[in-house]
Amino acid sequence: MEVSTAAKYPFLKESAKYLRDAGISLDQLVSSVAYERARYQGRGRVMEALDDGSIDDHPVSSKIDATIELLSYPIARMIVSAVADPAFVRRYAIAEAKKANERLKGESTEFVMKVTDELGLDVSTDDGGFSVDFADFLRFSATMRSKSWKLVNQRIRDGRVLINKFRLVRIIEQMLTERISSELPLEVNDEILQRFSREIDEIRQTLEQRRKEHRAQGMGRLSIVRFPPCMKKLLSMIRAGENVPHTGRFALVSFLHKLGMDSDEILETFSTAPDFDERKSKYQVDHITGEISGTEYTPPECSTMKSYGICFDPDALCNRIKHPLNYYRVKGKAFRSGK
Ligand code: SF4
Repeated sequence: MEVSTAAKYPFLKESAKYLRDAGISLDQLVSSVAYERARYQGRGRVMEALDDGSIDDHPVSSKIDATIELLSYPIARMIVSAVADPAFVRRYAIAEAKKANERLKGESTEFVMKVTDELGLDVSTDDGGFSVDFADFLRFSATMRSKSWKLVNQRIRDGRVLINKFRLVRIIEQMLTERISSELPLEVNDEILQRFSREIDEIRQTLEQRRKEHRAQGMGRLSIVRFPPCMKKLLSMIRAGENVPHTGRFALVSFLHKLGMDSDEILETFSTAPDFDERKSKYQVDHITGEISGTEYTPPECSTMKSYGICFDPDALCNRIKHPLNYYRVKGKAFRSGK
């Protein structure tokens, strides 16, 4: 593989092999003056993901430029690992995967299939486009919101879903997001922590500042004053680290998800709880939002909430609605009309 190609797709095994063959050690990469430019670009890569949620195109006009660009990838992964913030790992993974998507759109069918092969996706060329296994399609399209991704809107033949290149590349993006997220954080040694201490502090401070602003704004773009009393109560209980029954967690997560929050935003909302267990919460949230199960759940209606004992402090509006989501919508209309 040409180094210019490896620089564009640094996550490929061949790209990693290129670096191994070049004989550059981790120590050299972290400390040697010869790799200062690579470290600079690695920092840039991480900061772009932090600030914009995407990775910029960096001009590559020579073999040296391409090598530096390729080296910036392992450096970026070291910095992200050292920050060790799950939400930031995900943000970085999404940014890298998006960049790969942009680039893959312009590649040949042969190259795209080489990438799918490496990622373990069973793809065939079919009817002028591609086909993927039904189960793979379901798994990797579970987070796509657009109706056009729903299974009922697909052409299916012999258990395979027919897709065009644009869709195939979007599936690759999703697979890459999952792969990079699962690979990080890597273990980092003291030398790495010391070398990138300034960046690590800056990123942590930025993340903390954003979380503060997020909390101050009251759930980002959602309006907490429109929440029904049950959801306000469940949210405050979770944030205070109080014991909330599974039915309550399920109701709140599915409610927030139906209002448009994704798994990471929901996790961030819960992260203030003193007993916050990132791993456990992520599993529960991903299950309810459909990222693991493939099924997006809807919050229970009021009668079910009552039978679970989690209909807290119903107010006058509660007498007019049958579902917590309706409460949010009706209250929104009331606000807009100034009532
Ligand atoms: S009546 Fe429905 S919306 Fe109101 S608090 Fe009870 S469960 Fe929530």
